[in-house]
Amino acid sequence: MFGDLFDEDFSFISNNHWGKGKTSKPRECEPPAPRDFTNLSGIKNQGGTCYLNSLLQTLLFTPEFREALFSLGPEELGTLDDSRKPDAKVRIIPLQLQRLFAQLLLLDQQAASTTDLTESFGWNSHEEMRQHDVQELNRILFSALETSLVGTSGHDLINRLYHGIVVNHIVCKECKNVSERQEDFLDLTVAVKGVAGLEEALWNMYVEEEYFENDNLYRCGACDKLVEASKSAKLRKLPPFLTVSLLRFNFDFEKCERYKETSCYTFPLHIDLRPFCEQPEMDDSEYMYELFSVIIHKGGCYGGHYHVYIRDVDELGNWQLQEEEEKLIEDKAGRDAENSKETENPLAVLKGILAEEDSKQIPVDQLGQKLLEKKGVSWNKKYRKQYGALRKYLQHHPQVFQLSPDANKVGLKEAHELLVELDSPGQALQSPPQSNGVPWNSEKNPLRPRATSAGGHWFDLNDSKVQPIKEKDIEKQFQGKESAYMLFYRKSQLKRPPEARGNPRYQIPEHLLDEMNAANTELQKKRAECDSANNGIDLHLHLSSCYKFHNGALHPSLSWKESVVDLTIDRRKTLGDLRQAVFQMLDSWEGDMVLSLAKPLPAGLHLYQMLDGDELSLDGVGVADGTDIFVWNGKEVGGTRVLAGAEHEPVVLNVLRLAGHNEGGKGQHFTEAQHTFSCSTSLGDLHRALAPSGGIVLRNSSGEEKEAKNWEVFHEEDMEETIRSVGLRDGCSVLILDSHDQSFVNISSGNLTAFTCDISWLQVKNFCGAEDEENQVKITATIETVMSDIKMKAIRELHLEEELANESCLRPVSGNGKLLSPVPEDYTVKEAELKMGSLLGLCHGKAPTSTQLFLYFMVGSDPNSSPEMEIVVEETASVGECLNLMLQKCGLSGDNWHLRRLDWCYEAGEALSQENATLKELNVCRGDTLVIMEGKLPEKGFLKIPIWWLRPSSRKKHGENAQDQVNGLTCQMEALQVSAGTASPEATHPAMELCYAGRIEIAGEASLEELKLQENGC
Ligand SMILES: [Zn+2]
Repeated sequence: MFGDLFDEDFSFISNNHWGKGKTSKPRECEPPAPRDFTNLSGIKNQGGTCYLNSLLQTLLFTPEFREALFSLGPEELGTLDDSRKPDAKVRIIPLQLQRLFAQLLLLDQQAASTTDLTESFGWNSHEEMRQHDVQELNRILFSALETSLVGTSGHDLINRLYHGIVVNHIVCKECKNVSERQEDFLDLTVAVKGVAGLEEALWNMYVEEEYFENDNLYRCGACDKLVEASKSAKLRKLPPFLTVSLLRFNFDFEKCERYKETSCYTFPLHIDLRPFCEQPEMDDSEYMYELFSVIIHKGGCYGGHYHVYIRDVDELGNWQLQEEEEKLIEDKAGRDAENSKETENPLAVLKGILAEEDSKQIPVDQLGQKLLEKKGVSWNKKYRKQYGALRKYLQHHPQVFQLSPDANKVGLKEAHELLVELDSPGQALQSPPQSNGVPWNSEKNPLRPRATSAGGHWFDLNDSKVQPIKEKDIEKQFQGKESAYMLFYRKSQLKRPPEARGNPRYQIPEHLLDEMNAANTELQKKRAECDSANNGIDLHLHLSSCYKFHNGALHPSLSWKESVVDLTIDRRKTLGDLRQAVFQMLDSWEGDMVLSLAKPLPAGLHLYQMLDGDELSLDGVGVADGTDIFVWNGKEVGGTRVLAGAEHEPVVLNVLRLAGHNEGGKGQHFTEAQHTFSCSTSLGDLHRALAPSGGIVLRNSSGEEKEAKNWEVFHEEDMEETIRSVGLRDGCSVLILDSHDQSFVNISSGNLTAFTCDISWLQVKNFCGAEDEENQVKITATIETVMSDIKMKAIRELHLEEELANESCLRPVSGNGKLLSPVPEDYTVKEAELKMGSLLGLCHGKAPTSTQLFLYFMVGSDPNSSPEMEIVVEETASVGECLNLMLQKCGLSGDNWHLRRLDWCYEAGEALSQENATLKELNVCRGDTLVIMEGKLPEKGFLKIPIWWLRPSSRKKHGENAQDQVNGLTCQMEALQVSAGTASPEATHPAMELCYAGRIEIAGEASLEELKLQENGC
């Protein structure tokens, strides 16, 4: 049940929301690219249709074919508009071909599409297109066209132009009877294998005779028997256009595979077919043909690519020599917008002027005049700098201009003269092969010049791409993987009318002209739209009235969104145009208007250079899509002077200060605030702004991480440096330590490496207050922190009266809870030998200064009978003074007291016998415990010596040298003097027993003998 419910829900989502989300917004359709500088249109490759494209271009550049096609009007073919009407007789193939040709001739696009045409063939998939070979396609296309033109005046179009007849003769050697058989052809297929070129192939086919003899006899109809006979073939009828298919693909019967013949196979530009013809008595011109198209196959026998070299018979294209082409492309790129290539290219301009001249040649001076009159440009002003003097320029382009011998007059070079010039005269290719049977070596001079009926340059039409080529380039297609596959010759006799020259509109029916004009207008419109869309940039205008200047940068007084106005403008427009547009937008603007480049920075909006120079293009001044522009009076915003430019960029710094215990959150040692400064601010000013009452500023030199190790102090001598010059950028951190915090750091080193790592905590417990008060806090400290700072912080943290500082001290608390001796206020944690994390007690009483000693003391050595007391005395106080203070403190009087140290087993030990010696001299240390003992010490110079009697062990041998033992004692006298009262003599003589014999008071200078005597006395 739930399953169904959820399924339903899910499908609902997937159908509506998800589905909608996936449909991508239809892309704005880019208009097709215009023709490039050749001014010829290519044909798009629809996927393996390059052979079709090559053939269609060949047909297009067969002016007689296209004109014959164009001559068929709607009354014969119907119209494409009617093609959907069921009863209309519409001949779609010729109509589509007409339209395609019109597009190729007139539509300003880089490449035309053949989709409509191939659909008219009934080819709807790429598969159907790929099935064909170009030679096969030629026949299919002709056949399709012929079929579709049945019943029209164009029914014989193909025949008229391409139909030829070959006649085969067999002559009986016996009765001389001639058997004749005619063959029609639309194209001639010639062998490639083992043949050096086209002429040799034709010679083999139409000159050489074949003999029937020996085993291979001919059955003569007249003789009715097998006879010897000769067989020959001749061309009986030559078509105006001779199509030659080369048998490049052969079958290798040994290997049982197809292969491509890549050997050299020459063909001439001009060919005389008379030797191959049946009736050789006509005028020479009847046999002369000239090459106008070469379809080239590139690749192997299973696939490859076709392109075609075509001679532009009617000079429809713009052909330039290679260098000029490159120059033109450069020029074109440089001024895409202007689209004025005509006046930019002097070759085209001068050619145009001369072409319009009636006289064959005009004086060079006059050409300059006409240039000025017709195009409004002076050679010297416009071209001389780049192209040199006019006369020189003409001389440098002999392929275009014909100068008179004295170089004073110039005209256009005739096309046939051009050919003569380009090709060196060679041997007559039409001569029969030499008698020795060696094939012609036509490689040497394969392209023999001949007078030609039509001019025109060669182009390489390779699907969408059309490139000019030199006639000589054809030779490259004689052999190899990329080589000629079909040749198209036209009869030299065929003349083109002068009005067809350079006129792509020639003979195109009116309705197609109209259609193309409309299509071009539409294309232009689309391109203009697309162009302005491509060049449109969105600018963000920030109006000064919506801004306030504070904290070092401009901030919108409302939201960002409300303070910004977007403006779309063509990037090619000028700054003046922009200013005008802004003025129009803000009709209430008064006074000066300054436009400044602006940039949103972390600190806020910052202004850069003012946009100056109204004649400059937006592109030129660096205004691009998305640029922020601030509109203001150029001086102030809301009364505040605004400093613009990179040198005043605001920088946002993270300013860190040491956090108190309750600030900064858990584990945070710092509080953080952001401050904005101009990057030109000096460190001195920065210092004064951030630490007005002294203190130091440190920068984090180890990057973004705020708690990283390397904090560096800005040195005094760096105070003239600026924020930028020391490399402080947005997001950089500086640490401010006030004078109080500086105890954390060792400033003299200038480098606070490991500073923050060592920072830690000490705990302070309040021993001054009542039980119920908050009594323990954590205080940050480093090993360099001074005790007084810890105390002050603790007092604050504990919320105690600050005056308490004067009458309190910090005392370490031992593991068992004992308050140890207070630490001098000026000691650091390190000096006080405090461990981080240890507990300190905040106690009443002044802490000793570093010259004072804190001492414990008690009366008598039994801690149970006498409480331990504390006292602070100057370390320079004498033993006597110290004793008196202690007696005072514990309420004793009299002078029958002396002080002893507490020994290591917590008993009264060594007496401080020198009453006048200072505690310091006697090495009394902070935290020592002294014991007040009853009894007077011996006077100065006297010792009170405990006497131990070393009695020889009864188990030991008698007769030991007693003197030696005494001497042993003697040796220890010095030691006794020092250690008297502190330690029992060690049982260094295990063979003896040690008995305490009591104390003897004796002068330090007394001799050992005297000591002995006195000893014996006790
Ligand atoms: Zn015969």
